[in-house]
Amino acid sequence: MNKLILALVALLGLASCLTSVKTKKPSVIDPVVVEEKSKTFHTEVNYDWAKKTVEVSNCVLNHPEFKKRVEAIEKFDYSDLNGVQVYAAYSNGSKCGLRAYKTKNPWSSAIATTYSDDKEFFYLNSRKNPRKYDSMVNTSIHECGHLKGFSHGDNRSAGKENSVNYKVGSIAQEISELCLK
Ligand SMILES: [Zn+2]
Repeated sequence: MNKLILALVALLGLASCLTSVKTKKPSVIDPVVVEEKSKTFHTEVNYDWAKKTVEVSNCVLNHPEFKKRVEAIEKFDYSDLNGVQVYAAYSNGSKCGLRAYKTKNPWSSAIATTYSDDKEFFYLNSRKNPRKYDSMVNTSIHECGHLKGFSHGDNRSAGKENSVNYKVGSIAQEISELCLK
């Protein structure tokens, strides 16, 4: 009999644990998972390729070889800043977020875009991405440059290789090999 009561008490105890409803909110709430925003590049896109592109872009931006190569440039087209100033602009703490979009036109050749009223995010066309990581890093650095105010006139790439966006993007593409090892 005693054993039966003990068993019932144990069962009730267990049941009350399983069904407990707390009326008071805990004073400390576990942190929710928030995206890493401490670095320049971050993404809200849940694709592995987007996360890795962001990771490699941050590595490139902080790589001493990238800093050295960019700072060595005396003059760019479409900008009055020199390499030291351009590198400073890229590492001034303002963020470059990667988002994906899909062009309405399925045959669009657009790889990426930025919008004049959005200074935090650049958008990679998921019809044209993912591509090779070094190419996506080039594009990310190029587009990040637009968010930071650098431009190269119209959208044609011919003859633009000495603009900040194209030049720094191509250096980033080369340095990304060091980060992908
Ligand atoms: Zn551009």
